[in-house]
Amino acid sequence: MTHILIVEDESRIVTFLEKGLQASGFTTTLATNSDDAAAIALDGNIDLLLLDLGLPGQDGLGLLKDLRGQGFQAPVIILTARHGIDDKVAGFELGADDYLTKPFRFEELLVRIRARLRTSMIAGESNTCVLAFGDITLDLRTRRVSLGGRRIDLSAREFTLLETFMRHPEQVLSRQHLLDLVWGYDYEPGSNVVDVYVGYLRKKLGNHLIETVRGMGYRLVPAFN
Ligand code: CA
Repeated sequence: MTHILIVEDESRIVTFLEKGLQASGFTTTLATNSDDAAAIALDGNIDLLLLDLGLPGQDGLGLLKDLRGQGFQAPVIILTARHGIDDKVAGFELGADDYLTKPFRFEELLVRIRARLRTSMIAGESNTCVLAFGDITLDLRTRRVSLGGRRIDLSAREFTLLETFMRHPEQVLSRQHLLDLVWGYDYEPGSNVVDVYVGYLRKKLGNHLIETVRGMGYRLVPAFN
C-alpha cells in the first residue's frame, strides 16, 4: 500500500489530509515537526512526502534540504500558505517535486499525488488503478470511466465524486463527508453542491446508481437493487 508521510503542524489541515488520503486508499503517518519527520522519512518506507513549510523549529525548506542531502528519494509535494515566489524557487531547488498553495481542494492534491506516483504505479501495481462496481469501471491512471463497455465523459469533479462512492460501495455517505472528501474545506456553508453533482452522475450513469438515503446522505447501489 502506498505510504504517505504528512509533515504538518496545523491540526485542522492534518485531519483534512488524513481523512481524505485514507479514504482514497493511502496509508498515512504524521509528523508535526522536522525532527520527527526526518527520523520517519529516513527510516521508514515512505512513497511520498507532503511537506508544510511553516513548522515549529526547523522549517520545511531546511528539512527538505537535509533529507535530500541524506539521500531521501521519494517525491515531495510542498503545502504552504506562503505565496512568495522565493519559497517556490527555493523549494524546487532543494528538491521538491510539486507545490500547492493553501487553501487547496482535496481533489487538486489527489491529482498531484497521483501524478507524482504514476511512474511507480504503472511499473508495480497497475491493476490497483482500476475500480469496478457492477458494470462501471473507473481507471485512476487514464481517468476514464466506462459503463457496460461504453466510455462516459465526466468532469474532474464528477470523476472524484464517483471515485469516492466506488471506494465505499453500498455505504451511506453523508453530504458533509462527501463535501470534505471531494470539495475540501473551501466550499460555501450550506452548499447544495453535493446534490447537484449527484444529479449530474445520475444523468450520465443512470438514475438507479446512487440512492438517496433520506436524512442521511447517498449510497452507491448495485444495478439489481
Ligand atoms: Ca504550519
